[in-house]
Amino acid sequence: MSDVLISRLCIIGVGLIGGSLARALRDSNAVKEVIGCGRDIAHLQQAQQLGVIDHFVTDPAEAVKDADMVVLAVPLGAMQGIMQRIAPALTSGCILTDVGSAKGSVIIAAQNVFGEVPTFLIPGHPIAGTEKSGVEASFAGLFQDRRVILTPTETSAADAVQKVRAMWEACGADVVEMGVAHHDEILAATSHLPHMLAYALVDTLARMDDSREIFDFAAGGFRDFTRIASSDPDMWHDICLANHDALVKVLEAFSDDLRLLADAVRRADSDFLKDTFTRAKQARDGFCDNGD
Ligand code: NAP
Repeated sequence: MSDVLISRLCIIGVGLIGGSLARALRDSNAVKEVIGCGRDIAHLQQAQQLGVIDHFVTDPAEAVKDADMVVLAVPLGAMQGIMQRIAPALTSGCILTDVGSAKGSVIIAAQNVFGEVPTFLIPGHPIAGTEKSGVEASFAGLFQDRRVILTPTETSAADAVQKVRAMWEACGADVVEMGVAHHDEILAATSHLPHMLAYALVDTLARMDDSREIFDFAAGGFRDFTRIASSDPDMWHDICLANHDALVKVLEAFSDDLRLLADAVRRADSDFLKDTFTRAKQARDGFCDNGD
């Protein structure tokens, strides 16, 4: 085990993402020891019983002691509070990273806590997940052939970036780097907006008088389209607030387009409808492999 990538990995937030990361690193023998940290002892005991972590503690400062890699896998709203608690306890040479779905808010949290973005903080975001939460939903293959975006800053230490990249590659992921603001704009459009649409659609239908009948007749397409509305409401609350500016921009652009579509339906504008649907079909067929 002398060439093991990570000697002591501390995962704060052993849920779907943190648990899957630990499992994948264990499977590839890239880690020697995994310490888990969270608020609820029952969740941590379950993680230990599942073989996801070796030990656990509930105090973040104690959890990061002697760790060479610390991964923050908690909801975005909890990031700054955790950073505050671990800042004095981080070992020299330790690398700090996170898996949060927005990156600007993590940078701001780090500036608030450390006074600047530490050179050893390498923000990250695995573009992989499910609508399920908790360690029981975690699995080692979650990141296989999926992308992970790292958003290092100008002052990030190159060797720290390299080690975080190697960590994700050991999980089978394809790692790319991009700027923080660019990440937040892209993810607002590709992930955060679709979640808003799924939540809004299901909520609108659920509040209709005949909602029971509507859902009874919902077919496979409806299930596919709305699957992500089963995602954790607390997590998505945090993502909306964390990526507020970029999300508002795409929500407003989409609302404008939806209004144009409604107008076209109202005036039975065949050309508008066919043009819109054809453009969308061509775009999706071109972007998505095998039309999946
Ligand atoms: P999850 O399954 O709910 O796991 C979150 C974990 O954090 C839980 O184990 C929870 O355990 C712990 N936790 C929550 N608040 C905490 C706090 N204040 N202090 C310490 N621990 C806390 O959520 P997840 O899906 O893994 O998401 C985690 C992060 O990954 C989020 O930042 C999310 O934006 C990001 N992400 C999610 C996905 C996805 O599809 N789910 C994809 C990419 C990135 P206790 O309740 O026991 O404390």
